[in-house]
Amino acid sequence: MTDQINIFGETVDAEKREKEARKRYRTMQATFGTKEGYRCKTCKHCELHRYHGRNYYKCALWHQSHSAATDIRVNATACKKHEEADNGDREPN
Ligand code: SF4
Repeated sequence: MTDQINIFGETVDAEKREKEARKRYRTMQATFGTKEGYRCKTCKHCELHRYHGRNYYKCALWHQSHSAATDIRVNATACKKHEEADNGDREPN
């Protein structure tokens, strides 16, 4: 265990804090595993958002925000929550 003093003078467990920080940006693939041979773009949970003339893709099962941190890559290998979309045409949300 390594303890550090934060700016408020409190003792914090640096190891625990680092573990929590690593969890913050996990992906669906890291959390549930991958489904080989499938891509996010064919999944019914892949949502297209249009903003200022640009397209952004978000996973409906993942955290939602206006930040790029929650964008997904449509060509990423699908996670195990992948469900085939009815068709490839997505309406913007
Ligand atoms: S494959 Fe997984 S990460 Fe990709 S859109 Fe579907 S549920 Fe979300």
